[in-house]
Amino acid sequence: MPDAYELTPYDVIIIGMGPAGAAAATALSRGGLAVLGLDKDVHPRYKVCGGGLSARIDQVLGPGFQSVVEQSVNGVQFVYRGQDSLLIESPRPIAYMVMRDRFDHYLVQEAIQAGTHIRTGHGVVELTQDPQGVEVVTAQGRYRASIVIGADGANSLVARRFFPRRSQYRAPALESEVPIGDRGHGPAATTILVDVGAARQGYGWIFPKKACLSVGVGEFRRKSRSLRATFDRFVTDACDVIGRTVPRPGGHPIPVYAESEECGQEVDSRFVSGRAVLVGDAAHLVDPLFGEGIYYAIRSGQLAAHAILAHQGDHHEALAAYEAALEREILPDFHVTAKMAKVIYAFPRLAFKLLRRYQDVVQDYFEVLQGCSTAQQFLPHAKKRLKASVNDLLLEALHLR
Ligand SMILES: Cc1cc2nc3c(=O)[nH]c(=O)nc-3n(C[C@H](O)[C@H](O)[C@H](O)COP(=O)(O)OP(=O)(O)OC[C@H]3O[C@@H](n4cnc5c(N)ncnc54)[C@H](O)[C@@H]3O)c2cc1C
Repeated sequence: MPDAYELTPYDVIIIGMGPAGAAAATALSRGGLAVLGLDKDVHPRYKVCGGGLSARIDQVLGPGFQSVVEQSVNGVQFVYRGQDSLLIESPRPIAYMVMRDRFDHYLVQEAIQAGTHIRTGHGVVELTQDPQGVEVVTAQGRYRASIVIGADGANSLVARRFFPRRSQYRAPALESEVPIGDRGHGPAATTILVDVGAARQGYGWIFPKKACLSVGVGEFRRKSRSLRATFDRFVTDACDVIGRTVPRPGGHPIPVYAESEECGQEVDSRFVSGRAVLVGDAAHLVDPLFGEGIYYAIRSGQLAAHAILAHQGDHHEALAAYEAALEREILPDFHVTAKMAKVIYAFPRLAFKLLRRYQDVVQDYFEVLQGCSTAQQFLPHAKKRLKASVNDLLLEALHLR
């Protein structure tokens, strides 16, 4: 390990330059702080990810990111085990499709332009903190700062070092990029496919990109013994993929947000520890319903940066303000989507039938994805609508209507 310190200490060191780290770096550098961003990989780099950004991203990123959007999507084709196709559309985009190599590279360039010192190919191997600051070690150098942001993804070293009792829950997922070739996109380039029966406690997806279809399955449960078999079955059932060459899928865990108790044991649900703060996947800020993590990575990175800028010189205040911002803006929606996920993934066939019958409820959820409402606002209305219809169904069954 290198002995020499880099001479100047930084205000903040960010470990990981995915969406969470790059968003935090851009905001902190624009606010005038001295920021170092480290990533073990050299960008642009491939990342196993569906690359689906809900359209509410418009509210947190400037319009420049549209230069790396591959497709805008305004509809979802729901199927159940490849059958009973149901298309629900919106007049406005509900999501944008990106390839993570280009998207993440764009965000890193934004951070560089804002003034962040970025070192890619510099994996962090150790880090410690003391009352004066934090020390971060890579194979190439040692660095000091007042605060360290752990933006190092699902297998975060920062979380392991400073948050040993945090949740270990990670949902397994597999994905392959299937070349489009001469056949084109299939039914529509502006539609994503979601198969709610493809996986146990999860779903299968096909997301259209310019040159490929991102095809994957994820299961939101602790263990999955046969995810590869689930993936193979999904691609065999999916009309859009039949006849195409499907490259071997890559796997990566999705650190889905989980409530604070696991297997009867209390887990640490803090996001800050001393001078360390977690954002994005490192903090398990992934929506439990769809496994959407990019929006929350970017937003949590920005919230951490805003809190640090608002309380310069007092890291206790700054990091407490970050936790309060998460409690206000992100966690209430996760409490709702966790409940929805429990029901939908326990009874996927029933959920699919309800989707067909109550398409207006799905349209309402599109508004959540578009940033026009929140999951918290959505749930009471959806419950009322579904309760009323259960009554309708009963009355129909009794021939009273
Ligand atoms: C199969 C699959 C499909 C998905 N599909 C979607 C989707 O369609 N939409 C969506 O919103 N989300 C999706 N997600 C989730 C999404 O990929 C993550 O939530 C998102 O990447 C989180 O961003 P992040 O910046 O927190 O972490 P990451 O993107 O994982 O970035 C972490 C960075 O840290 C770096 N790093 C790690 N360790 C170190 C170290 N020791 N030193 C230095 N650098 C380090 C890594 O190289 C990486 O660049 C999917 C995930 C999977 C697995």
